[in-house]
Amino acid sequence: MMAILGGTFDPVHCGHLHAARLGRSALGVANVTLMLAARPWHRPAPAASAAHRWQMLRLAAKARPWLRPSRLELKRAGPSYTVDTLAALAEQAPLVWCIGADAVAALGSWHRAADLPALCHLLVFNRPGAPAPPPPAGFEVADAAALAQRPSGSVHFLDARMLAASSTALRREIGAGGAPRGLLPAEVWAHIRHHGLYGASPEARTAHA
Ligand code: ATP
Ligand code: MG
Repeated sequence: MMAILGGTFDPVHCGHLHAARLGRSALGVANVTLMLAARPWHRPAPAASAAHRWQMLRLAAKARPWLRPSRLELKRAGPSYTVDTLAALAEQAPLVWCIGADAVAALGSWHRAADLPALCHLLVFNRPGAPAPPPPAGFEVADAAALAQRPSGSVHFLDARMLAASSTALRREIGAGGAPRGLLPAEVWAHIRHHGLYGASPEARTAHA
């Protein structure tokens, strides 16, 4: 079973890492793949380049060997469609696509959404402030332990407390001259300051991550 957390990671933050950690133990898998959406098509263009977002993902994973950053979507030309990524990984099935409640609510509008239940299971993280979504079309609610028993098409809503962290809020805070305390891995914050991403100044205070 392969667990994958996809995201724009603009930037990767502690909310992602916390969710991945809990997902890993709920599923009983050794590691979680972090799939960088190189060219997300369903949202405004990222603030940081794909190269910077990839570097930040690698830095976050370096200190956490159970995280596997993947550049599969970086290497593929054109928009980053999840359905193509899942099809490319089919040999490692069952695949569990890990996703937050806000993102899963929009799943029906994804490219070839009707094909997703045949390609993966879903593990849904609640998102502080976002309402609990209904199961997406084509997916059947199941226990975490049951996901390994079927090839695809199950959804498990993880009943665990997530961190109130979002990349949008972090970008805003950094742009306003703040230092996001505790919500960014220290190495990611250092990268942001070093390269002046999101309007950060090198003098910005040190985060306590
Ligand atoms: P943005 O505000 O730019 O959308 P984000 O914080 O939502 O950034 P994404 O890269 O969009 O980060 O998220 C990748 C995936 O991780 C999505 O499925 C999202 O719902 C989930 N996610 C993000 N932050 C959290 C969090 N704090 N807790 C649980 N899941 C999260
Ligand atoms: Mg998001």
